[in-house]
Amino acid sequence: MSQSLRPYNTFGIDADCQELICYHSTEECLEAAQHLKTSGLPWIPIGEGSNILFVNQHFPGIVVHNSITGIHPEEQEYSILIRVGGGEIWDDLVDYCTGRGWYGLENLSLIPGTVAASAVQNIGAYGAEAADCIVKVEGIYVNPDSDDAPYEGSLLHDECRYGYRSSIFKDELKDIFLVTYVWFRLRRRFKPTLSHAAIERHLIKDGIEPARATAKDIRKAVIAIRQQKLPDPKLTGNAGSFFMNPVVTPELATKILETYPDMPHYQTPANDGTEGVKIPAAWLIEQCGWKGKNLGKAGVNPRQPLVLTNLGGATGQEIVTLATTIQADVYRKFGIELHPEVRFV
Ligand SMILES: Cc1cc2nc3c(=O)[nH]c(=O)nc-3n(C[C@H](O)[C@H](O)[C@H](O)COP(=O)(O)OP(=O)(O)OC[C@H]3O[C@@H](n4cnc5c(N)ncnc54)[C@H](O)[C@@H]3O)c2cc1C
Repeated sequence: MSQSLRPYNTFGIDADCQELICYHSTEECLEAAQHLKTSGLPWIPIGEGSNILFVNQHFPGIVVHNSITGIHPEEQEYSILIRVGGGEIWDDLVDYCTGRGWYGLENLSLIPGTVAASAVQNIGAYGAEAADCIVKVEGIYVNPDSDDAPYEGSLLHDECRYGYRSSIFKDELKDIFLVTYVWFRLRRRFKPTLSHAAIERHLIKDGIEPARATAKDIRKAVIAIRQQKLPDPKLTGNAGSFFMNPVVTPELATKILETYPDMPHYQTPANDGTEGVKIPAAWLIEQCGWKGKNLGKAGVNPRQPLVLTNLGGATGQEIVTLATTIQADVYRKFGIELHPEVRFV
């Protein structure tokens, strides 16, 4: 019998799958992994589906969902070590820690999704990323291409190969390592991360001197900024930033700047280590006239054009059509390829 995936994707796509398994412990995850191996079906681990687009109405395989809860802190002399069930909601963890005076996650307030996915995605915002605090990730190995039975394992921070929104779990271990628990180390002593001007501006507007801001002040500011900028997936289906910000060669950036001298751009190394220039995808989309525009039941958010939305009853294919039309327009106008940040399933 097929299972609805409507509650498991923030785009609100009415998709379903052949089978849905929720695991509540490491033992249940191991059992689920054994079932995956013998089923002969494709599978995908998901959390809240806040970075996933179900392209087709039916996924002919098994969706595995981490439902392990529990936050287990161990207070140490200078820091707190916390083992967290991967099914916990990320922002609940941030609230829990900030409220207890344990620091490091406050800039990542209100990012949707689960704790397990935070370690897969290396979520980041406002000058911080999950990898800054992750010390270990536990899970179950289930490799479809090997004869080995599924087995339990863990990876220390350095083994997770964290980079910008990337990790070994998105690459070599994609769909092969089912995350069960994530370990974080948080600080007792607070030092605000203020590298983003928007946070400073918001604090000043609230009458708070940025250097004296508390972690709760930062959390409050980040939540307010995000609520102003991004549509709430509970009200309007979306998966956050749909495209990654492209990094182009300095030559291409210079050529575009001749026509668009106001184009925002930032020097940054490209993936291959060569010199690069990052251009906000939102700016490119806006220049192509897509801000606030719709195509069928799929739309481009009027405040943040990097966010594509389900205007109500859109299919995965309708979102894909909008995305590919935008990609083609951006390529035609600027010669830049936009790559999705969202995972297509
Ligand atoms: C409004 C909005 C704002 C957002 N803002 C940000 C932001 O500021 N910064 C940011 O980094 N992201 C942002 N995102 C993206 C999203 O919140 C993150 O990618 C989040 O980590 C996804 O969590 P999830 O539980 O929904 O994972 P899913 O979307 O379900 O899955 C994401 C990936 O993780 C894998 N995965 C999930 N669970 C497991 C598991 N247990 N084991 C192994 N693999 C697993 C999936 O296969 C998939 O590849 C935003 C999304 C929305 C909707």
